Amino acid sequence: MTDIIHLLPDAVANQIAAGEVIQRPASVVKELLENAVDAGADNIQLIIKDAGRTLIQVVDNGKGMSFNDARLCFERHATSKLTTADDLFHLTTKGFRGEALASIAAIAHVELRTKMAEDSTGTLLQIEGSEVKEHAPVATADGTSISVKNLFFNVPARRNFLKSDNVEFGHIEEEFNRVVLTHQELAFSLYHNGKLVLQLQPSNLKQRIINVFGNHFQDKLFPVEQQTDFINISGFIAKPENAKKKKSEQYMFINRRYVRHPLLNYAVETAYSELIPDGYKPAYFINLEVDPSTIDINISPTKVDVKLQDERLVFGFLNSTVKKSLGQMSLTPRLDFDYEPGMDLSNMPKDMELKEPAVTHNPNFNPFNSHPASGGGHSSSGSSYSRPSVPHNTNFDTSGWSDFLQSLKTETETVKQEQTETPTLDLQESRQEEQDESPIDNIKCLTINQKYIVANIGNGISVIHIAHARERVLYEKYLTAIQQKPITVQQSLFPETITLSPAKADLARELKPQLLLLGYDLESIDGTHFAVNGTPNGDDGEDVQHVIELFLESYHSNMFLHHAEKDQNLAMSMAKQKCSSFKPITENCEIIDFLRQLFECQVSNVSPSGKPIIRQIEDTEIESWF
Ligand code: ADP
Ligand code: MG
Repeated sequence: MTDIIHLLPDAVANQIAAGEVIQRPASVVKELLENAVDAGADNIQLIIKDAGRTLIQVVDNGKGMSFNDARLCFERHATSKLTTADDLFHLTTKGFRGEALASIAAIAHVELRTKMAEDSTGTLLQIEGSEVKEHAPVATADGTSISVKNLFFNVPARRNFLKSDNVEFGHIEEEFNRVVLTHQELAFSLYHNGKLVLQLQPSNLKQRIINVFGNHFQDKLFPVEQQTDFINISGFIAKPENAKKKKSEQYMFINRRYVRHPLLNYAVETAYSELIPDGYKPAYFINLEVDPSTIDINISPTKVDVKLQDERLVFGFLNSTVKKSLGQMSLTPRLDFDYEPGMDLSNMPKDMELKEPAVTHNPNFNPFNSHPASGGGHSSSGSSYSRPSVPHNTNFDTSGWSDFLQSLKTETETVKQEQTETPTLDLQESRQEEQDESPIDNIKCLTINQKYIVANIGNGISVIHIAHARERVLYEKYLTAIQQKPITVQQSLFPETITLSPAKADLARELKPQLLLLGYDLESIDGTHFAVNGTPNGDDGEDVQHVIELFLESYHSNMFLHHAEKDQNLAMSMAKQKCSSFKPITENCEIIDFLRQLFECQVSNVSPSGKPIIRQIEDTEIESWF
């Protein structure tokens, strides 16, 4: 009987292996980008022509390869990343199976140029369908450039199976995103058909996300952070109101490798379940750091599917971390102060049950509406509505300038402490203190049209929206007044009388104790008239009638439309009224003082109505303009 079994030639074996690893141009992109990252490059270019049909080229400035390695890397199971099977459980590299380049070379025309920094010449290698055409020394830059041309030239079925250029380039962009979103410390650029599509400078994760997905992400992201002995969780989640009906930007990484794991996705999505309507998807960018020996990434050739040793534990940690972040997020009051002014409350019957008005957007879309309010009109204290309780000191993301802010806060705290502890510093010491420059004294700043402050903060320049910042400063001042330290009342010798509509007068009587904490001592004379026995110390000359009327209107509107919690509502309503009476800031010392007040706030980067206060332009971004 004749034997019929024979070993397949390498070229055929590689082509079969390629079927698993390389499904479309985007698969080549993934493998080449990962190799460049593994090679320690810090600048990686991806050049694409015709959605990868004609050319996929990756140029890196990594460690390069020797003359022999340049040839060997195209052999199957040729890798520098693994020697024993045990190494599989200590992997810190993206690749390890040693089959990507062999697979690519089996189904395309490949040209490799590579040079190690310590070598004087580089190496050129041309290979077509696993057949080496050229292997010679060449002058080339340090690092590696691999060009993959005519993909699937010898696998017509695969070539015909490719979708339109738009679809294929979409897949390429997705692979590119998966790498750049977890390597924000590296520079990347992406070219398609000769045009620069995206250029990414090294940055922090938040900036990287914004650079990839657009500026509209700026206000959508909220940090997640949890460090334990077992797992470190970090990244950003999108605010519930930014959830989308279609599949959203969902990126889960384990040890900085993009992974697909339904359970982990479920852990994140269920944390949102009460905050977003069914079928909506939250965006997230989360990296889990776990001990490499507790995951198996070798269960699929593309290494996207992984097995976790302790799935339930990871699920639990991830779910509770996201929930905690969502809880903290809800602390930022997101009341809309731009309500229609002049709402007439005077004809409203006192005991009328207030119904939530119809709104044009989907009411379920607002996480705060998931607990229906139980009516109650003016007499409601706002407590019918419950939010997740969280400590006040929210850990807001202050990305680029967080260190700076921290140093300011510590500095201010120390100064405050010193002032209380040693009220009588001797002259020598206080002179010394005057000479010590604090970070804030070194800031150069100017105002633009009384609308913005431009200042050199951190590694770049910051643009600060004055009105939003004022609202924040005043909000925190009034919240402190309500909760801890009432504002001093300046008693009037000749009390002014103000007149309020019956509905507002009722509300004013109800809020009398709180108004006193805010510095207004009102005494009811009859149904609609009040004597103003005292006003906030320092706020001389203001139109009290106007301030109180607008304050009550705003308070009522927030309670009615947004179910705001009482203290926050009081602080915000007062802050909003007082914002307009702020006097312009022009002198450098006034600006510095204003910034100091802002940075002393618990939250400095978003106004109480949820509007951004600061935009930071990093040095690196400025450099990239030129
Ligand atoms: P793996 O990445 O799984 O090791 P590959 O086939 O992707 O397998 O690459 C084979 C080997 O070629 C790598 O282990 C590495 O030593 C080398 N190599 C590939 N790409 C590069 C590169 N851009 N720079 C330096 N070395 C590289
Ligand atoms: Mg590889």
